[in-house]
Amino acid sequence: MLLGLDDTDSPDGMCTTYLGALIANELKRRGFTVTNHRLVRLNPNVIWKTRGNAGISLEISGGDSTVVFEIACEFVERFARFECEKTNPGVVVVESPPDPAFYYQALQRFCTIEETVKRLERIGALYKGYKNGRGLIGALAAVSSVLPDKTYECLAYRKNEVLGTPRIYAEEGFFTSEEQTAPHTWDTVDFIRREIVCVPHGKDPVLYGIRGDTPKWAIKATGFLETEEPAFSQIWETNQGTDAHLLPLPDGGPIEGESYRFSGVVESLPITNRGGHVQFTILSNGMEIPVFAFEPTKYFRNAVRELVVGDEITICGSFQKGVLHLEKFRPNLLATQKSRSSPRCPICGGRMTSAGKDKGYKCRECSGKVRDVPDQERTLQTKWYEVPPGSRRHLAKPAVRMKDDI
Ligand code: ATP
Repeated sequence: MLLGLDDTDSPDGMCTTYLGALIANELKRRGFTVTNHRLVRLNPNVIWKTRGNAGISLEISGGDSTVVFEIACEFVERFARFECEKTNPGVVVVESPPDPAFYYQALQRFCTIEETVKRLERIGALYKGYKNGRGLIGALAAVSSVLPDKTYECLAYRKNEVLGTPRIYAEEGFFTSEEQTAPHTWDTVDFIRREIVCVPHGKDPVLYGIRGDTPKWAIKATGFLETEEPAFSQIWETNQGTDAHLLPLPDGGPIEGESYRFSGVVESLPITNRGGHVQFTILSNGMEIPVFAFEPTKYFRNAVRELVVGDEITICGSFQKGVLHLEKFRPNLLATQKSRSSPRCPICGGRMTSAGKDKGYKCRECSGKVRDVPDQERTLQTKWYEVPPGSRRHLAKPAVRMKDDI
């Protein structure tokens, strides 16, 4: 049988994976066997999410499904953050996996609570939706999930008595861990910005999460860490880092809240706007689509700024508020053009124009002036350029996993 759970936390505490792990431990204590722990990320563009839009499922054998259902509901009632308006837990138990179509809909599109309840009735599931019952969507999606590609995450959870206090750890251990285990692990640190990425900062019970190809690599990576003692850890099988959220671009154009991977030609030179966001237009299948690399994606924007009109590229990202939020891109064929004709500003990275004969260059964005700029050969190669680990969506496949896709 499969147990699905979602929407139990609030920005002030709890985490659905933690509650799922507590339930798994309780089931084992009561003689059940938990044969799989799965964490699925769903559509990253839903507005109701607390953090990463996660739902979990447990594969269980060795007992009665009504007992599993009762234990899960009891734990949700004890631990879920009902006081938060956005917390609307859902618990689902099914004897066998339902049609994966619902998982794909929750992963790549949108679902309503009504259609979810109808499905649950049709398949004869045991289910309980608390408050407005929205968590039933993620709970049903989790038990319906199929993972043609999968990764693992070792999540360590904090002891109760330290919740809400700053996490204690030695930074160096995380860097050593990634040095020793990459490319089999990723998103532990950002080497370029010297930042630790896998430790959250909030009041939730997660101490750290190490992502890897296999449980073995994730566990090996934890061996290099020096942290406060975790209460316990759980390895989750996940759809993280697989690009499972990406769809091909529809003929009718991009749809709000969906995520895509498609190829096209750069139609306008990237410019840096006032907020530091870098924007350009791509032409694909006759459609002009605005693309943004947002300011928090930091050094990623330098690669985007190197694009010029005529470059043929493949891009991945989510379509929100009428623009594509770039997650990564790969140049396929670079236009033969030197950037000398419009060099980049050494102050803000924006494009510069000639300030007049022998007067040097003036930046179109920050109005900075320079007498001369050296020839700037483009450094772009035919490889994936991606946002920094700290800005990456859970579902986005990191470049280290894109080896067969060059
Ligand atoms: P938690 O740890 O509680 O799961 P979270 O960041 O994963 O936190 P949720 O609190 O679960 O986010 O909020 C997401 C809500 O959106 C859930 O109720 C889930 O059922 C619902 N949901 C997920 N995917 C979709 C979708 N594609 N369409 C509509 N609702 C969705």
